[in-house]
Amino acid sequence: MCGIVGYVGNKAATNIIISGLHRLEYRGYDSSGVALLNPRTSRLNIVKTPGKIDDLETSLAAEMPAESTGATLGIGHTRWATHGEPNRVNAHPHLSRNGEFAIVHNGIIENYIALKSRLAQEGFEFVSDTDSEVIAQLVEQCYEGDLTRAVAATLEMVEGTYGIAVISVHHPSTMVAARKGSPIAVGICDGETIVASDVSAIVQHTKQVIFLNDGDILTATGDNVEVVSVKNVPVSRETTHIDWDIDQIEKAGHEHFMLKEIHEQPTAISNATRGRLVDSEGTTKLSGMQMDPYEMARIDRILIAACGTSMYAGMVGKNYFEDFASIPAEVQQAAEFRYRNPIIQRDTYMLAISQSGETADTLAAVREAQRKGATVLGVCNVVGSTIARETGRGVYLHAGPEIGVASTKAFTCQVSVMAMMAIALGRTRRLSTQVGQRMVREMMSLPEMAQAVIDQEEDIRRIAEKYAKAEDFFFIGRGYMYPVAMEGALKLKEISYIHAEGYHAAELKHGPIALLGEDVPVVGLVPDIQGKDKTIGNMQECMARKAPVIAIATEGDKDIDAHCDDVIRIPPCAEFLTPIPVVIAEQLFAYHVAKIRGCSIDQPRNLAKSVTVE
Ligand code: GLU
Repeated sequence: MCGIVGYVGNKAATNIIISGLHRLEYRGYDSSGVALLNPRTSRLNIVKTPGKIDDLETSLAAEMPAESTGATLGIGHTRWATHGEPNRVNAHPHLSRNGEFAIVHNGIIENYIALKSRLAQEGFEFVSDTDSEVIAQLVEQCYEGDLTRAVAATLEMVEGTYGIAVISVHHPSTMVAARKGSPIAVGICDGETIVASDVSAIVQHTKQVIFLNDGDILTATGDNVEVVSVKNVPVSRETTHIDWDIDQIEKAGHEHFMLKEIHEQPTAISNATRGRLVDSEGTTKLSGMQMDPYEMARIDRILIAACGTSMYAGMVGKNYFEDFASIPAEVQQAAEFRYRNPIIQRDTYMLAISQSGETADTLAAVREAQRKGATVLGVCNVVGSTIARETGRGVYLHAGPEIGVASTKAFTCQVSVMAMMAIALGRTRRLSTQVGQRMVREMMSLPEMAQAVIDQEEDIRRIAEKYAKAEDFFFIGRGYMYPVAMEGALKLKEISYIHAEGYHAAELKHGPIALLGEDVPVVGLVPDIQGKDKTIGNMQECMARKAPVIAIATEGDKDIDAHCDDVIRIPPCAEFLTPIPVVIAEQLFAYHVAKIRGCSIDQPRNLAKSVTVE
């Protein structure tokens, strides 16, 4: 959530920080600010404002002393408020009482009330309602000439999660940063260092990046970076080469990132499956699983932990593991997993699914499962992310950066990756070479299938126009379409703010049908799969209650028109792959509804891209 950008080096920090904050906008935020070390007065100047980075730029032009814009040391922040309203005072950076230290913080300081009252008794005054301000005061209190040690001493006192960056008037060419639970990446350039909560703020300047681990404290100058533990023990962190370019995080002519990412799905799925489908052997090769057939054959249960869209992808994956490999699989909301004291047996494997690889609840579930002795595999998109690193094995999506807050290509790639995992596991069990080959070949046609749905965008837009005024929606499906119904409803509510519910088609009669009427459209997911006729029956029940019905059905299904008001058609495909074309149709539908309603599609209200708080 929210973001940090810090700069130390030989260039003017302001532009680098502001352009970095723009890159982080997609993560969702409500206010922002910048602190710069004024080279003339050696004081810290801070400008902050509620609203967008454009507003911050206007305020900077009006309020920042001219000489500070030439500063070569500075930190910036986009805030996603957890403690205290999103107003100017609560925006970061926060200054310490004597004005000598400025900090930015992502995360939550859980014991801030106790710390604040102690500091207040000792004469520290607080100006904001945030939990974060205690960090600034503690650094001032702990400072004895060494900024890194002052930060370390501070961090020994705080409980909770943080990514922080700290600068001080006493150290005009040093920045200190640290993390626990909130990511910090460090871009290494010639004569300059850029610290950010997300590499998208860095790639424009360098592709050489160090990712801090929890408990690491970084001391950076333009020419040097050192990492130590809280106990001041030096640690070495590898440099990772980022293999994507700045144009991948630009809109490339599309009106919104979300639309660009919907359109990218044929390519994203090709990249996710490239080199992994082995036609000749009717299996898949996923080297990141680091598993030989002997180990695969021993897995006797799979637990899937995830949140939101990833959880719905996980529900599709559960079907794959059970259908192809006969391995009992369960999906758990990651937060629930952590607090329910789950049962882990000897050969239980856990899959942690997270696009960003930073989802706090999923990360906590990973750690709990590891404490209980489970083998955990990550299914992440962001290379070098915390879950990817802490699990050590798993499968990357290779979907490319996903900027739109509403996840699109990550879902289709997560589903593709789990299908490939399940085929590999299935081949160590009952799946024959021939069946494996058929499935692999069907997967090879996925990009084409995805494109065929995208090609119908104009038809989908027309249907979206017809229903965009509705305030309630239902999505119904069964089997593979059950999680896809929930994902369709989630997409619609995330970006259009329409109340939408995804239901098992059979559940409708057990309560929610009471809500149906002519203002409540129902989307019935009825591609050619098992149980389709039953869902069509449920759609009839909806029509009988005057609810308008939109079907998502397979091309060539001539009978479907009689059971609905409008049809979105997907190309014919194997049953197990239907979630992919159907979800793409739902994404386009949600996108166009939101656009017609004039919503802020890439940064929906109250949402953040990666949810790094529990
Ligand atoms: N908890 C802090 C606040 O509310 C930081 C929020 C954030 O991560 O942006 O100010």
